[in-house]
Amino acid sequence: MEKFLDEAEALFEYTRDLRRDFHKHPEIGFKEIRTANIIAEELTNLGIEVKTGVGQTGVVALLEGKEPGPVVMLRFDMDALPIQEETGAEYASVNEGVMHACGHDGHVAVGLTVARLLNNHRSEFKGTVKLLFQPAEEGLGGAERMIADGILHNPPPDVALALHIWNDKPVGWIGIVPGPVMAAADSFYVRIIGKGGHGAEPNLCNDPVLAAAQVINSLQTIVSRNISPLKGAVVTVAAIHGGEAFNVIPSEVELKGTIRTFETSVRDRVILRLEQIVVNVSHALECESKVEIKSLMPAVVNHPAITQRVQHVASRLLPNDQLDFNTITMGSEDMAYVFQQIPGCYFFVGSANKEMNLDASHHHPKFDFDESILPKAAGLMVASAMEFLAK
Ligand SMILES: [Zn+2]
Ligand SMILES: [Zn+2]
Repeated sequence: MEKFLDEAEALFEYTRDLRRDFHKHPEIGFKEIRTANIIAEELTNLGIEVKTGVGQTGVVALLEGKEPGPVVMLRFDMDALPIQEETGAEYASVNEGVMHACGHDGHVAVGLTVARLLNNHRSEFKGTVKLLFQPAEEGLGGAERMIADGILHNPPPDVALALHIWNDKPVGWIGIVPGPVMAAADSFYVRIIGKGGHGAEPNLCNDPVLAAAQVINSLQTIVSRNISPLKGAVVTVAAIHGGEAFNVIPSEVELKGTIRTFETSVRDRVILRLEQIVVNVSHALECESKVEIKSLMPAVVNHPAITQRVQHVASRLLPNDQLDFNTITMGSEDMAYVFQQIPGCYFFVGSANKEMNLDASHHHPKFDFDESILPKAAGLMVASAMEFLAK
């Protein structure tokens, strides 16, 4: 099994060059045309059957082993973000206002390396590897579109695996955790409606700015007072808009924010309390209110038995002090929709390198990661895929 790491290491330059090319030419969700063309070309050159235009710009490929057997789906997302790059790297984006600031350029390069390695070992397994290059992961609904286009059928996968290059953690760290690993995300939109007027005559107004301030403070009691300290939850007010002039009390204030939770019961409780607090605190200050909550993404839940097998693969492949079987994140991911139907495991590969100045957070204009982790990501993915294929 160790051979997969060595073989991935031997392909390092191939993987890195691909990654840099994708990085230089980033494309945002549902516009990954150049990216998809390169993927299709690379896979076709290997003699792998390829289908393009799945979920608009996605690519699906089937890699058959020596005989039929289990179907293992490996998913790699490929979209960039609407961010102006500030890394100054020699391979920095040439596309104005578009940047691979989440590492999906690395995911595509790893995916193509995985395809190459598994293709070399076709005669050693029974079953099918279904490679999925997914568009529009960054909140645009790419996974749902691919599911609607039938990726979970013909053939239906028995197991699904995915990974994320992870700059929250240093090179050498690998996170493989059973159960919920990424949070469910909801957005909320609140309007607090008062009665505007002269800033010098607050007694004649119902001040929505003051009500908004009280609401924001009170919302912080949900996580601290209503949710068990042993459970995870986030309530963030990320935007507040209201008023223009220094001497006018506006008639309305808007708040926008996000809720993150791992469990349905926790999510229900947060939403109930959020609604109660907005309505009642506003009311106490003689304002009206409206709350809209939108579910954006369910939690990513790793299947316990499958995750245990991936942990086992990793412990045979890598030094055990590099493995973290506990850390989870409040980020969200649309692989959650796949895992609602197919049991699977989503793992993280630490990629930050402080000494090399490669430790900016995901979605930051200076985001870049240590490329030396690419072979480890590919090797671990190949070894994990082999674990679920038959011998
Ligand atoms: Zn992202
Ligand atoms: Zn991402």
